[in-house]
Amino acid sequence: MATADVIIIGGGISGATTALGLVEEGAGKVLVFDEQLTSQRPSRGNFGLTWFLCKGSNNPVYAKWARMAIQQWPDFARKLEQETGYDLELEWTGGAIHAFGEEQYAAHEKSIKTLREVCGKSGLDYPARMLSRQVFAEMVPDIEVGEDVTGVMYSAEQGHVNPLKLLGAVRCAFQKKGGKYYGNHSVTSILPQKDGTISVKTSKGLYNCGKLVIAAGHGSQRLLTPLGQKLHIYAERGQLMVSERYKRILKIPLLCARQTTDGTFLIGFSTENTAHDNSVTLSTMKNLACNAVRIFPILKKLNWVRSWGALRIMTPDGAPIYSRIPEHENITIMAMHSAVSLAPLKTSAIAPWVLGINEASQIAHFSNERFNV
Ligand SMILES: Cc1cc2nc3c(=O)[nH]c(=O)nc-3n(C[C@H](O)[C@H](O)[C@H](O)COP(=O)(O)OP(=O)(O)OC[C@H]3O[C@@H](n4cnc5c(N)ncnc54)[C@H](O)[C@@H]3O)c2cc1C
Repeated sequence: MATADVIIIGGGISGATTALGLVEEGAGKVLVFDEQLTSQRPSRGNFGLTWFLCKGSNNPVYAKWARMAIQQWPDFARKLEQETGYDLELEWTGGAIHAFGEEQYAAHEKSIKTLREVCGKSGLDYPARMLSRQVFAEMVPDIEVGEDVTGVMYSAEQGHVNPLKLLGAVRCAFQKKGGKYYGNHSVTSILPQKDGTISVKTSKGLYNCGKLVIAAGHGSQRLLTPLGQKLHIYAERGQLMVSERYKRILKIPLLCARQTTDGTFLIGFSTENTAHDNSVTLSTMKNLACNAVRIFPILKKLNWVRSWGALRIMTPDGAPIYSRIPEHENITIMAMHSAVSLAPLKTSAIAPWVLGINEASQIAHFSNERFNV
């Protein structure tokens, strides 16, 4: 039987970034097994925002965690690019959330005040402010802002990235540092051993490891059920649409519309509880398009060339799960939405915690058991 120090199940952005952190921490022989299911592709089908605005509005620890992650993003990206030669297409030009009408504007204003107080208590800044429609329009002079927009919530300290290049770069850095990535390896069962090690049965053979990380997204529950664990996640479908390329006119990404470096517009931000159905629907695409056109009227002139649906990995409070299985302390579970935004913390905080080297004070707050009420 092949052996490893650490095995990670799932090579999406959570598993791959944690794996990178583990080899950087000197964890020894680290293997990633990834099934690469097309039905489970949030790491390949997401919107690519590196974002902290509004995160944690009902969970103060998560608000701080998200802010910490975004503070680390520019250095995280720089290092990855230097090590791999990938261009992540990170643009740190700020990011905004539109408001339609006075009520939404006031709600955004309140959210900033609350989250600034929350972050301030831990000595963290919360660099966000409201901009009137006119001020925002002056910041994006090449594109007309729709009449319905009353203003935006804005932070200069966030941005957007090409999520496919991010995933490619993380996997590349991991392998350059000695990690082994096995695509098309489906893990079928986890068998804890009496000596504390864990055997992992895959479609290509049996392995044994000292520590196991389960980062298999919506595939995790299937592996956890035989261990008596209920993972508190559910699927929430998001649909995205992509336009033809157009000259670069929008440099600041919005929560529901952004223009990529190659000129395509992406629009999104639909939320639907559809169990594991990741198809696209005409009615949702129509809503997405109408919303985007209200913000930027020029979008009605573009051809929309592609669309897809992908399933968010949601928890009841929106915050991530980082947890050890109570009777099997060498098995860690992680599951989350916003794994792109949170990626830097996987190397700086989660990998050391998996190895038992260091535990950031916030991590205990994110256990799966918090939902066992
Ligand atoms: C529409 C949409 C938009 C989003 N936009 C953003 C955004 O702008 N910013 C942001 O930060 N986040 C965003 N997200 C969230 C982000 O994409 C996810 O948090 C992230 O992709 C989760 O990554 P993961 O590695 O945890 O899970 P996954 O990407 O699901 O990876 C899990 C991997 O494990 C594999 N696997 C499953 N079972 C097994 C098994 N038995 N054996 C081996 N491998 C297995 C799967 O095939 C998959 O490759 C968005 C998500 C969606 C759906």
